Amino acid sequence: MTHRDAGELTPPPATALPPVDPETLATVQHRIIDWYAEHARPLPWRSADATPWSILVCEVMSQQTPISRVLPRWEAWMETWPGPADLAAAPASQVLLAWDSLGYPRRALRLQETAAAIVERHGGEVPDDEEALLALPGVGAYTAAAVTSFAHGGRTAVLDVNVRRVLGRVFAGVQHRSPSLTAAERRWAAALVPDDEHVAWNAGAMELGALVCTATSPACDACPLTDTCAWVAAGRPVDPTVVRRGQAWAGTDRQLRGAIMRALRAGNPSPPVPVRLLTAPTAQLTADESRLLEDLDDPVQRAVLAVRDLDAGGDRTARLAEDLVRDGLAVREADRLRLP
Ligand code: SF4
Repeated sequence: MTHRDAGELTPPPATALPPVDPETLATVQHRIIDWYAEHARPLPWRSADATPWSILVCEVMSQQTPISRVLPRWEAWMETWPGPADLAAAPASQVLLAWDSLGYPRRALRLQETAAAIVERHGGEVPDDEEALLALPGVGAYTAAAVTSFAHGGRTAVLDVNVRRVLGRVFAGVQHRSPSLTAAERRWAAALVPDDEHVAWNAGAMELGALVCTATSPACDACPLTDTCAWVAAGRPVDPTVVRRGQAWAGTDRQLRGAIMRALRAGNPSPPVPVRLLTAPTAQLTADESRLLEDLDDPVQRAVLAVRDLDAGGDRTARLAEDLVRDGLAVREADRLRLP
């Protein structure tokens, strides 16, 4: 296999999922649960009064986005749309504005579809059944498991990249997991979930992976599992086949798409942004267009100039603008572009 993903990389060896003896498992379970009780970050979606909907929103937002950026957006979002019915009824433009710069804005529209389906199929209540969650648009295996566990206290294995890394190091002695989660690994991980305190197990393994057993600098000296960790016992072998993919951002389509979306957000609800102000080289702007650019409100002008400063070329910018329209993130009105 040649596909590699950021941070989680080349497939581990075939022996990566060994049986775990019950005594070791019980020790690890207790230590993770105890560590979590003492070290869990006091995040609002972990409070006793967090609703299943607020937990679902948090899980969607925090995919591919750091918690520090999620927190203020989540708080504003829950203030505006405390329940699925509220979000389902919101204009898409407001949803995209509130998503702000969390990245991958299609997630915002998918979340709105999820909200609509919850209203339609479940009377506005987030279902507590993992299969029913999985059947919702935009809800994948991870989100369904996370909501089942964290929102409803159901016993299931919540496997994000952090949990998989911790389990792989502690029990299998491998530095990194394969990018793809196989059915065999799901079954293996599911068998490790304790009968009691399974929510704390899921949350604790995830938190340990986020704060201590990180991908690049595991703090083994501060870890409650040091003396039971198979990877440490093996001398922390570095997987020689691991090649990290760079997280290059500058010059990418994602960067340019993000800049266009910022211009549309800044322009909302002003008149839509003329496409040529985003795409035409300065020398090719007409006098009217130049005047229009100069007369834009400050925030809109800054955002439009930021797109132009990327110097991506008119064709490429126009292509990505059309992609945004196709993805439902923008609407084209004649020669202008706006939020939906
Ligand atoms: S001892 Fe080190 S590698 Fe093992 S789980 Fe803890 S932080 Fe991770």
